Amino acid sequence: MKFSDYPFNADIKFNLEKLGFKKPTDIQYKSIPPILRGEDVLAIAQTGTGKTAAFAIPIIHKIHQDKASKRTDFIKCIVMVPTHELALQVNEVFEKIAQKTRVKTLCIFGGVEQTEQIKSLYKGVDIVIATPGRMFDLQHQGVLDLTRIEILVLDEADHMLDVGFIKDIRDMQRFLPKKRQTLFFSATIDEKIKKLAYSLVSNAIRIQISPKDPVSKNVQHAVAFIEMDDKRFFLERIINTHKDKKMLVFVRTKVRAERVAKAMERADIDTLTMHSDKVHQERINVLEQFKQGKTKVLIATDINARGIDIPNVDMVINYDLPDEAENYVHRVGRTGRGTKKGQAISFCSKEEQATLKKIETFLHQPVTILDLEKEDYMETISFSKETMANENLKDLLKEVEMFEQSKKKKKK
Ligand code: AMP
Repeated sequence: MKFSDYPFNADIKFNLEKLGFKKPTDIQYKSIPPILRGEDVLAIAQTGTGKTAAFAIPIIHKIHQDKASKRTDFIKCIVMVPTHELALQVNEVFEKIAQKTRVKTLCIFGGVEQTEQIKSLYKGVDIVIATPGRMFDLQHQGVLDLTRIEILVLDEADHMLDVGFIKDIRDMQRFLPKKRQTLFFSATIDEKIKKLAYSLVSNAIRIQISPKDPVSKNVQHAVAFIEMDDKRFFLERIINTHKDKKMLVFVRTKVRAERVAKAMERADIDTLTMHSDKVHQERINVLEQFKQGKTKVLIATDINARGIDIPNVDMVINYDLPDEAENYVHRVGRTGRGTKKGQAISFCSKEEQATLKKIETFLHQPVTILDLEKEDYMETISFSKETMANENLKDLLKEVEMFEQSKKKKKK
């Protein structure tokens, strides 16, 4: 079935076509009909499956239809997300699909001035995409009225729990009308998530996308055994042999992100970094620069692993393996999105082998091993610009040393 066969308004169809969405992905195919019918949905789907549009399309269609026949100047839908990056990204999808329709959306999140957000709320919006903190703030100030919400969406609900938003979600329930449609999206499901989900939805349609193999079929992923101290040489080599590719490199800590960036700088490779030390505006600038492809390599910590849709990432490099096995799926899910193909390579040192085992258990299957011949391994290290620069330095120091020694001998 193609999107052109769905009963959507012509502007929505036009917008989908402009986005290059011809036919629905699995999650869209399964979610759109029950959402249009007004049913609650509990969906287990990873990012990269097209889940944002799975709820955005039917929500926009419904609100657009409603606004044709009645005056509805109140907020009808709230989409809760765990991070401001995700809020911006989800909002972008809504805005693109809602272009030229009667539907207005607004994104609200903390860390920035409230004034503009308040002004937009006063002008009137239909859909609000929000992180919990700012949402409560504005609600307490009386500028955000949630009492007539018809649809509640919880996106990345598992991540909401991870970052401690469970109380916020529970508090929010008190302000929302009891009679509403609830759409609950989570990448994983465990007892805690189930409990939360069933406290929010009623008679929900349950949808689960590829539970057995959590890594998208579009992603070819493999692991290479590389010692900790040699990783930077391999990264340098991969970047240099794939100069036209957009690459997302994951590291364990923010200090390491900066260190790897410095190592690449020494090898004349331009990179961007993204971690929790960057303030909101910096993060937006970095993402924008990367999206536009001005700089092709982004080195990030796990703050980026979930939810963020960076278009056209060709490769993901796990420079360090993630401590949480589940994050492996989120990280490699940054590539091979929608209908595109992607590649992911993980560097695994001796110290990280136990982590790799954990990941494989989580995936229910081993990760393909990239066999590195010994010569290849040695060649990568010795042909690195950084090593060569070090070698040059060593040669120079040797010359200086010999010169000093000959001077001493002459004196004698
Ligand atoms: P999401 O899982 O919502 O983060 O979406 C992942 C990616 O899939 C995004 O880059 C979307 O633009 C893309 N996408 C979503 N739906 C479709 C579709 N029906 N056809 C092609 N690409 C899609």
